[in-house]
Amino acid sequence: MTYTLPELGYEYDALEPHLDKETMEIHHSKHHQGYVDKLNAALEGKADLQDKDVDELLKDLDNIPEEIRTAIRNAGGGHANHTFFWPLMKKDVACSGAISEAINAKFGSFDAFKEAFIKAALGVFGSGWAWLVINENKELEIMTTANQDSPLSQGKMPVLGVDVWEHSYYKKFGPKRNEFLEAFFQVIDWDKVNEHLSKANQ
Ligand code: MN
Repeated sequence: MTYTLPELGYEYDALEPHLDKETMEIHHSKHHQGYVDKLNAALEGKADLQDKDVDELLKDLDNIPEEIRTAIRNAGGGHANHTFFWPLMKKDVACSGAISEAINAKFGSFDAFKEAFIKAALGVFGSGWAWLVINENKELEIMTTANQDSPLSQGKMPVLGVDVWEHSYYKKFGPKRNEFLEAFFQVIDWDKVNEHLSKANQ
């Protein structure tokens, strides 16, 4: 079995005017495809690992043969993170339900959460991701990872994540990562976040 690029699930221009069509197209068809290709190359001839869900590989990196561990961490992380990322975005979905209640309980208010999340995302030096996860204590936690590292490798279950690599925003926003993050908040699919929360709490 080889890994394949998942469908985006919507048109490349579906998130306009917040996120631009050209960035979405390159990001999905070139960058994400690149992680898939590198992951398949790393796993060539390793049938036992090829048959596993990429999330399972990332949860147990210590048991990946050392000679391909870094490749799985980077390319497998890239594939898993982007596969998680695309369905998190949809226009005009309000934050409601269980995630809204959990955010208010943990951070005091939605605005306080948003401020803390954006601050964390702006604090990623270089390339990486900002996440809202369910941690080992079944509590919400904001965290960041470098490069394509996955929260799964640290025993956390992501419910929301944003890609802050420059390829994610530079074309439209230039160096203004803060403006990209404000735009991202316009297109978070909170129904999908609620699905992840429900799974993480099972
Ligand atoms: Mn990316």
